[in-house]
Amino acid sequence: MDSGMIGKIQKAKRYAEEPERIRFEQFRLTFQGTNSQHTVSYDQGVWQCTCNFFAARGICSHTMAIERVLGVMLPVAATASEASPSWT
Ligand SMILES: [Zn+2]
Repeated sequence: MDSGMIGKIQKAKRYAEEPERIRFEQFRLTFQGTNSQHTVSYDQGVWQCTCNFFAARGICSHTMAIERVLGVMLPVAATASEASPSWT
């Protein structure tokens, strides 16, 4: 392997330890829930989920789980719902 590639791999390892460098803008995924499968999407801070709970509340266990998995890679505004849930 050439030295250029070795340097890039080392840099990638350092970057991977600093996820705050990464900000998702939009994505779409399939979430396998306990009873059924849901489609979750995220676009510029706006969540969508196909489950019934999300339709009623605008937030659900699926979007909250993804927030926890992605952590600092989501803008603060996208995770604010967890800090002050509207249903309490
Ligand atoms: Zn959901």
